[in-house]
Amino acid sequence: MSGTTVIVGAGQAGSDLASALRQAGYGGRIVLIGDETSVPYRRPPLSKAFLSGEMGEEGLYIKTREAYAKHDIELRTGVSVSSIDRAAHALTLADGETVGYDKLALTTGGRARRLTLPGADKPNVHYVRTIDDIRRLRDQFRPEQRLVIIGGGYIGLEVAAVGIKTGLKVTLVEALPRLLARVTGPELSQYYDSVHRRKGVDIRLGVGVQALEGDAQAEAVILQDGTRLPADVIIVGIGLIPNTELAERCGLAVDNGIIVDLYSQTSDPDILAAGDCTNHENGFFGRRMRLESVPNASEQARVAAATICGKQLAHAGVPWFWSDQYHLKLQMVGLSNGHDRVVVRGSMEADSFAAFYLQDGIVIAVDAVNRPQEFMLGKKMVAGRLRSDPALLADESVALKSLVA
Ligand SMILES: Cc1cc2nc3c(=O)[nH]c(=O)nc-3n(C[C@H](O)[C@H](O)[C@H](O)COP(=O)(O)OP(=O)(O)OC[C@H]3O[C@@H](n4cnc5c(N)ncnc54)[C@H](O)[C@@H]3O)c2cc1C
Repeated sequence: MSGTTVIVGAGQAGSDLASALRQAGYGGRIVLIGDETSVPYRRPPLSKAFLSGEMGEEGLYIKTREAYAKHDIELRTGVSVSSIDRAAHALTLADGETVGYDKLALTTGGRARRLTLPGADKPNVHYVRTIDDIRRLRDQFRPEQRLVIIGGGYIGLEVAAVGIKTGLKVTLVEALPRLLARVTGPELSQYYDSVHRRKGVDIRLGVGVQALEGDAQAEAVILQDGTRLPADVIIVGIGLIPNTELAERCGLAVDNGIIVDLYSQTSDPDILAAGDCTNHENGFFGRRMRLESVPNASEQARVAAATICGKQLAHAGVPWFWSDQYHLKLQMVGLSNGHDRVVVRGSMEADSFAAFYLQDGIVIAVDAVNRPQEFMLGKKMVAGRLRSDPALLADESVALKSLVA
């Protein structure tokens, strides 16, 4: 529990890892290095309350700078780590400085996947990953502006909701035949499709983007079917690329993320990794996955801290996630891929329901909209691999609690 632990990447996982080490009684030196200039911050509000202006910058911070100092965590922001020398147990920063480590944790997250079409480099083409992205975007996020969003995943839909609330004219383009196709079933996709259309979003499904037209600024998005969508602001939300280059360059195993085991351990016994940058083993599923969520980053960080402290805490959490759009709080638990039946409890028309995904009669995932209780109980059902009678699940006169006990 002594020596030096260096954490590369001062985001959710990095900050949580540093805190978890101190909570576990780690008495060594902790250095947390991040290339962004801000204090580590939460990203979820970037596409929600921070974009809408309801939350100020300080509301994003996971902790104040003083709180890191108080726990003797050396926070170094605005500096990038450029290489790792595993044999020397040292890393080099972009300014040439060398920092030695006994244990190294990589929490480098990911970056927004870029659009690589002609015209995609124009200044009014935006991404939603960092505070700086939103600072750049906010000036253009004004009523009556024509906003075209490319990508119908969570970030695209959350931005669409804020756009509508702010008074922009919003069009959303998704290349796949339905919204949220990669993360949920057709029922929920259809529900969000109709909510957004009702609110005034012009949704174009099943058609890709061919080019962005314009000189100094992008003035229109040209779709593959020839449609021309005039635009003042364009936001691209087409996924994330894990930041694995540092790991790759020093010879760690990488395959769609830095490969880690149940204990956040990479292929080097002195190097761990956690969060969006990892392709990790999950004990609950007994397989490998890459997830992009705060709960996953936090849990993996706790696991990595335990490993550094010589304890064995396996990563076996059931994934969960949330999304806020308009007045809708979506909370999801489990992974619905492979389900053979969906049972809806409550009313989609009333914006208050939970969709239970069953596989061979077992609840494998729950998507709850404005139903926190169903979400909490759904978590227990998924974690306990409970078998449920679909008729009872759907029947609101039957207390859900009675099905969990
Ligand atoms: C707009 C938006 C909305 C979201 N909404 C939700 C939500 O509602 N619910 C939810 O659960 N999740 C949400 N997420 C996902 C969640 O924010 C991420 O899963 C989480 O931030 C992952 O944490 P992380 O520490 O792994 O990575 P990050 O938060 O990306 O942190 C990694 C940090 O490492 C830095 N870094 C990378 N390479 C280097 C280097 N070589 N040297 C120094 N620093 C480096 C990066 O710049 C970054 O600051 C959202 C994400 C976004 C972008």
